[in-house]
Amino acid sequence: MTRPHQVVIVGGGTAGWMAANLFAHHFADSPVELTLIESPDIGTVGVGEGSTPTLKRFFECLAIPEHEWMPACHATYKVNIRFDNWSPASGTNSYSHPFISQLDVHSERAFHVNCLTRRLGLDVTTTPDKFLFNGYLARHALAPVTPPHFPFRMEYGYHFDSGKLGTFLKERAIAQGIRYVQDNVAEVHQHPDNSIASVLLESGQQIEGDLFIDCTGFRSLLLQQTLKVPFQSFSENLFNDAAVVIPTAPQPVVPVETRATALSHGWAWQIPLTHRTGNGYVYSSAYCDATTAEHTLRQHLGLGESDADVRHLSMRVGQTQSQWAKNCLGLGLSQSFIEPLEATALHLVQTGIELFLEHYHKGDLSDRYQSEYNATMHERVERVRDYIVAHYKLNSRDDTAYWRDNRNNMALSESLLQLLDVWFRKGDLVQEIKRQGLQAHFSTSSWHCLLAGYGAFPPIRADQPEKDAHQHDLFAQRNLAALFDGCRLNFRAHNKVLSGHSR
Ligand SMILES: Cc1cc2nc3c(=O)[nH]c(=O)nc-3n(C[C@H](O)[C@H](O)[C@H](O)COP(=O)(O)OP(=O)(O)OC[C@H]3O[C@@H](n4cnc5c(N)ncnc54)[C@H](O)[C@@H]3O)c2cc1C
Repeated sequence: MTRPHQVVIVGGGTAGWMAANLFAHHFADSPVELTLIESPDIGTVGVGEGSTPTLKRFFECLAIPEHEWMPACHATYKVNIRFDNWSPASGTNSYSHPFISQLDVHSERAFHVNCLTRRLGLDVTTTPDKFLFNGYLARHALAPVTPPHFPFRMEYGYHFDSGKLGTFLKERAIAQGIRYVQDNVAEVHQHPDNSIASVLLESGQQIEGDLFIDCTGFRSLLLQQTLKVPFQSFSENLFNDAAVVIPTAPQPVVPVETRATALSHGWAWQIPLTHRTGNGYVYSSAYCDATTAEHTLRQHLGLGESDADVRHLSMRVGQTQSQWAKNCLGLGLSQSFIEPLEATALHLVQTGIELFLEHYHKGDLSDRYQSEYNATMHERVERVRDYIVAHYKLNSRDDTAYWRDNRNNMALSESLLQLLDVWFRKGDLVQEIKRQGLQAHFSTSSWHCLLAGYGAFPPIRADQPEKDAHQHDLFAQRNLAALFDGCRLNFRAHNKVLSGHSR
């Protein structure tokens, strides 16, 4: 494929508008013409309110300051995910997965060493949020925004109203000069080699292009329906295929974390926004029907049977065999979806665009690069999937067949099996993660948070004097509690920082 001059994005969900903004930014000085087509009839998925820290880079790259976009999207800061009730049998009923920041250079290694010491049977501290500063911020509802002199860069993500984010990005892309067409794609026309030549709209207008970006959501109009790229389902590994969503009132003290609470047939998210709290229950329809799921979520939220708006959604979990086929790049739900436990979908959209643009700037869109791109993205999605699968594999709930079946499920990738093997054999997990190159997907500390958070440890050695454990406990030895208390002085209450944005 040669360098494109006419790029056509089909779909105006978050994926489409993210792509429009990044492409417009990168093609600002080149003669590339960008068009986005959005159906006036088919709505967007309209959920997806949490991000990873990658989204911070998205706004930085486009030079959009937080005080501009955050109030417009009712956004809040996110530094952590708190997991409740996933592993009651281990005694660690709630744990944190904080985003790793530069400040953790002082404590991250101590966390890994303590986890190894604990795996060897000594009773030392392994609570992730005692070692990782964003966990500390989450406990105290402090915003991760630092004063100008602060010598460490904080990593964080956001919570946001996805509909408002779509509108914000749409208005911005149109202001940047992107051609916007509101119509339904009725037909897709192909060249003799099957690549896409043009799309015919219901109005009769024909739009030609040399690169097409499929952002049509689960429909996958171009990639799957037209180019017949096969879809690889992850239903063997990830059972959840449905969600029910109910918003509630905003919280008076706005948390800087997402809550993921395990319920009888899945888990419920709680996402704090400035104007409301987003809640949803992600579950498996093979174990629980929609009415029961809605009832469970209402009970969890303390709502009556008719209070509040409710939406039911179905999800198709997996990925297409290739992300880039012929002259079509799939982004967002048209290409892959992994259930939202770690809020990775937009992260993968952004990664997909950035990697494509990297190839574009090298001036090489040849078949070799296309294969390389597809292999890299495939690997990304699979390794993200494995991290999510590990949450289900390690659960110690016994209340339903759903949790027992998840725990007993052996449909695990070779990569995940090896990783768990190293952990349980008391091997060097840091080395294993490096050997497999897994840190590109989830960091070494993220894996430690998950495994330690679930209390996946052998029993404490009975023959070990208490003072030995104390001597080996790097949390106590390094006096990390005092370090974090000292750093706290640089951070302000989340509510205060948010109200500063809207002034
Ligand atoms: C329950 C749930 C929770 C989620 N939580 C998170 C989260 O916390 N974090 C996260 O990052 N992601 C999350 N996601 C994923 C996230 O919602 C999506 O990745 C994101 O919204 C992007 O969707 P999309 O743009 O690919 O598709 P959609 O939003 O479905 O947009 C599809 C677009 O294509 C257009 N279209 C379709 N057919 C045609 C046609 N024939 N002609 C013209 N236009 C057409 C539609 O009009 C629409 O504009 C979640 C998803 C679900 C289901």
